[in-house]
Amino acid sequence: MKWRDLLCGEPRPEQVGQRLTVAGWAARRRDHGGLVFIDLRDHTGICQLVVNPEHAAEAAETAHAVRNEFVLRAEGELVRRAPEAVNPALPTGEVELQVDTLEIVSRSEPLPFQLDEDGVEELTRLRYRYLDLRGDRMQRNLRLSATVVAAIRRYMDSRGFVDVWTPNMTKATPEGARDFVVPVRLQPGRFFALPQSPQLFKQVLMIAGFDRYYQIATCFRDEDLRADRQFEFRQLDLELAFPTREEVWDVVEGAVAASFEALGREPPARPFRRLTWQKAMTEYGSDKPDLRFGLEIADATELTRGSQFGVFANAPSVRFLTVPQAFSRSELSVLQEVAKEWGAKGLAYLVFDEEGEVRSPIAKFLSEQELAAFRADPGSTVLFGADEPALVTRVLGALRSHLGRRLELIDDSRDELLWVTDFPLFEWDGDEQRWTFSHHPFTGAVPGSEDRIESEPGSVLSQAYDLVWNGWELGSGSIRIHDPEIQRAVFRVLGISDEDAEERFGFLLEVMRMGAPPHGGFALGLERFVTLLAGEPNIRQVVAFPKAASGSEPMTGAPTPLPDEQLAELGVRIIAPDTADPSRHT
Ligand code: ASP
Repeated sequence: MKWRDLLCGEPRPEQVGQRLTVAGWAARRRDHGGLVFIDLRDHTGICQLVVNPEHAAEAAETAHAVRNEFVLRAEGELVRRAPEAVNPALPTGEVELQVDTLEIVSRSEPLPFQLDEDGVEELTRLRYRYLDLRGDRMQRNLRLSATVVAAIRRYMDSRGFVDVWTPNMTKATPEGARDFVVPVRLQPGRFFALPQSPQLFKQVLMIAGFDRYYQIATCFRDEDLRADRQFEFRQLDLELAFPTREEVWDVVEGAVAASFEALGREPPARPFRRLTWQKAMTEYGSDKPDLRFGLEIADATELTRGSQFGVFANAPSVRFLTVPQAFSRSELSVLQEVAKEWGAKGLAYLVFDEEGEVRSPIAKFLSEQELAAFRADPGSTVLFGADEPALVTRVLGALRSHLGRRLELIDDSRDELLWVTDFPLFEWDGDEQRWTFSHHPFTGAVPGSEDRIESEPGSVLSQAYDLVWNGWELGSGSIRIHDPEIQRAVFRVLGISDEDAEERFGFLLEVMRMGAPPHGGFALGLERFVTLLAGEPNIRQVVAFPKAASGSEPMTGAPTPLPDEQLAELGVRIIAPDTADPSRHT
């Protein structure tokens, strides 16, 4: 027996008169004085079934018992709808199937929510993900994701990249997150780590002579979940031997363009814009600036050195944002709160009203020259940051993003892709009082600065780059270290002794001593990319079975405790009690 001749979205007037079988889900049933209409749905669309008790008594009886989401198989003749019943909104709207045989293939319990219902809480949607996935939005998003992955694979293949699978059970691969670990039955007390990325394997593959590697790799990072983060996600991971960074960028830009084209969209103009990290931080207060709006940050440190306003005169850095709106007191106090949230002690401002008069408690302390430098158009506000440079950057960057959204300055019709380049090699961690890496420990320094790695770590720029799209970091990459001595120097700055380095990364140092070509690459976060392509606000909308914010998977209820025997077999003893409430599926 054949289940179906056509998919639900396929019947057209050309098939009128044919006997057809269709199968799918009952999206809606309407009883109309004897006639029963059922919208039969699958991923391609809807076919209207009509059951007439006068022609098909048994089918009509069955039709009365149909409820939403029952799976049905219907046979009958395709007929034209009466002119007044034509539905121009549906591709199948000119025809309907006059059913003579109707079979309930499978039943559905009453649904916790209707598929087309708006405003269903996300946790409920995740708990009943299979129903949520049946809806238009998730069907569209996962199919879009598949189209993008297929386009990327075709493109990478056409550029000569070799798809190599690397292990998911491995040694720690530091990318700045915590590791998920796997106990090993055959070696109790030992653990594999799930890879935060295939970083070291791809470097080894370059040294092994593969020249161009790529993989759609799953990565695992134990960090707090956010709108753009899941514990596990995929990357388009790639690496090239003997590359310049421009060559890496060209490959990545090509993959982005191929994805746009596969979706029938105009690809962004190439080459993408480039901005040094320094410029991004000083002008936009962020290493992933959204360039769909202006609001650049300006510097006034020099100008205010002799200011009568002590806060300015004494601050190591004074910078400001000019906003095209004269804020009221209450609006300013909201902005003050935002600034404090990001670490500012206060928020100095000058408001220029519609007449161009200045309104501000600090105006009386400022010289004519200062006021002239800050003067803005009537109907604007100048907001100041005065503190340590890093704090000023952070606060003004946060205010810039907040105001971009709040004042609707963002031009949604634009796509702004840019490369942020020349990151510092290290960052100073004030809490821990030590240097940390700003990208990962395998990133190369700008050529010529290697001898300062240990003597002046803070002054060394790296060969790392990020790709940013409308304020989201799509991915990172770099030209790597291929000299084991330089690699050791970087480890030492990070507080990893030569001995520890041998223990943790001995294989890498060894392989680097056996003929390592210069190499570099990139990894593009696929789910983030697809989220933006789909115009969705968060990554969970493009992942079939995501974790909820609490880190659990609501449909299966994972993670769950293990039985004692299984723990014993793994050589694992639980020392913290299980605090999760088992009834809580979040
Ligand atoms: N492994 C890096 C990451 O996951 C990407 C790279 O440097 O190629 O961010």
